[in-house]
Amino acid sequence: MFEGDVRRLLATVGIATAIGLVSGELLLCYLAATLLHLAWLYRNLSHLLTWLRNRSTLDAPESPGLFEEITLEIDYLRERHRKRKKTLASYLRQFQQATRALPDATIVLGEDGEVQWANEASARYLGIRWPEDMGQRITNLIRHPKVREFVLAKRTESALEIPSPINSHRFLSILLAPYGDSRWLFVARDITELHRANLVRSDFVANVSHELRTPITVFRGYLELLYEQRDMAPPPWLPALEQLNAHANRMQELVEELLLLSRLEQSDRVTDPEPVLVSEMLADILKQARIVSGSREHLFTLETDASLRILGSASELKSCFTNLVVNAVNYTPARGVIRVRWFEDARGAHLEVQDNGTGVAEEHLDRLTERFYRVDSARARGDGGTGLGLAIVKHVLIRHGGMLDIRSQLGVGSTFRCDFPPETIVPQSSLPLSRPA
Ligand code: ADP
Repeated sequence: MFEGDVRRLLATVGIATAIGLVSGELLLCYLAATLLHLAWLYRNLSHLLTWLRNRSTLDAPESPGLFEEITLEIDYLRERHRKRKKTLASYLRQFQQATRALPDATIVLGEDGEVQWANEASARYLGIRWPEDMGQRITNLIRHPKVREFVLAKRTESALEIPSPINSHRFLSILLAPYGDSRWLFVARDITELHRANLVRSDFVANVSHELRTPITVFRGYLELLYEQRDMAPPPWLPALEQLNAHANRMQELVEELLLLSRLEQSDRVTDPEPVLVSEMLADILKQARIVSGSREHLFTLETDASLRILGSASELKSCFTNLVVNAVNYTPARGVIRVRWFEDARGAHLEVQDNGTGVAEEHLDRLTERFYRVDSARARGDGGTGLGLAIVKHVLIRHGGMLDIRSQLGVGSTFRCDFPPETIVPQSSLPLSRPA
């Protein structure tokens, strides 16, 4: 208790006692003194409350002792709170300035995809302005079917690449990142230069392959002629002729596959899809695979749903499935088992090629579909592969809205599965079929 308050209380009790003794009404005097003290406390409390409510216009009430201390404490807390608020506001301002100046378009989306905040780059790349577009759904502001699908499916695992909705010469890579309580960061980065570099690279590869095609065909034709008449050549030339012939074949295969890849890369959709009867195509592919297997005598099993058809390009699908089956032959030792299945389930149609061959170690799996990526380059080259097979598979699947799933265990075997979405499946009652290419 504070000294002033104690003195005041003692004085009140003392006066009450004196008056009580003189008047002979001690109890009544104590009661009156208590009521007086309570009235004084009430008055001070009500002054304190009035001051708290009108702090900006009134001075702090001046009453010594406990109430003065309370007033000082409140003042101190208020000052501390004001300083903290000021610091936080300055942090917030700095953070907003930094995010506003971010070179990537950054938009905060609410649970339903509505714009809650956007930086300046959003107007430049996407035409989204803040605060004008606040509260509008991003799918109404960017009317691109892929963006709609991307946002509604809340895809966070991969980026989406689209031309800018306000400038078709610029390309954007879009990422969606969840944060906090059902909020999303929608980030669009300008990748025009990268896109252009990729175009230049694929144009270059396509042009070189195209230019090489004719000379290699001529070169190979003459070599074949020489090779057919090898009986007339001096014996020391025979190994050289054989090598030349093998390498010429390989070069032609490489150029053809590079050209095919360039064609596949041109667009991510098949232009004129037709119903394809995959089971017949697979029977054909397995016939070829038996020839490739030759003396290695692999054991093939084929399980197919004979009526299951998908919409797509027969020639591309044949090339895709052939690559997978031939790979299984090439990477499975003699008399190994190769199992091919074509089936449908709730997730769509699937082509699965399973082998009990060499398998692939986990660390290579993510890179297998890159061009020229080989786990054991010396061996793969020796076996005659171009290193483009799985890149072709991947692109064919992209063009059919599908995906490649690879499972493998070193020394145990591999399973390559092509997944086609349900919408590619042709309903049973439909038009005449196209024969496999
Ligand atoms: P390649 O012409 O070298 O076969 P691919 O693109 O078809 O090129 O395959 C890339 C690499 O993936 C191969 O070099 C091989 O290391 C690995 N691979 C592909 N299929 C299989 C398989 N069935 N079993 C083991 N490894 C495989």
